[in-house]
Amino acid sequence: MTTHEFYMKRCIELAKNGLGTTYPNPLVGSVIVHEGKIIGEGWHKKAGEPHAEVNAVNSVKDKSLLKEATIYVSLEPCSHFGKTPPCCDLIIANKIPNVVIGTVDPQLSCATSLRNYSELPSNHSQ
Ligand SMILES: [Zn+2]
Repeated sequence: MTTHEFYMKRCIELAKNGLGTTYPNPLVGSVIVHEGKIIGEGWHKKAGEPHAEVNAVNSVKDKSLLKEATIYVSLEPCSHFGKTPPCCDLIIANKIPNVVIGTVDPQLSCATSLRNYSELPSNHSQ
């Protein structure tokens, strides 16, 4: 198992905590890792309540570590305003440099975050 697989497995374990209460939202888990150590964990508990990434970021005691951390999320972070603000904005605001996702969001209104990242001028290769 690779390191990414290890932490992604933990995300899925966390996500299962929301089983039965997140409908119509999916189960999502998130882990924040700094220098090989888990410093934050979260999962989506209930529709209308904060997403997994928000709960994971909030669980980090020393927020200054976030700018050197990696956030793992079982589902691509949302980039749209739903009942809660976009998680992409939270990740950018906290300057988390690495994002590892389990899967892209199949819902069109959600699946724009990766496109937004790739449209950043610094990521243009031409
Ligand atoms: Zn979100």
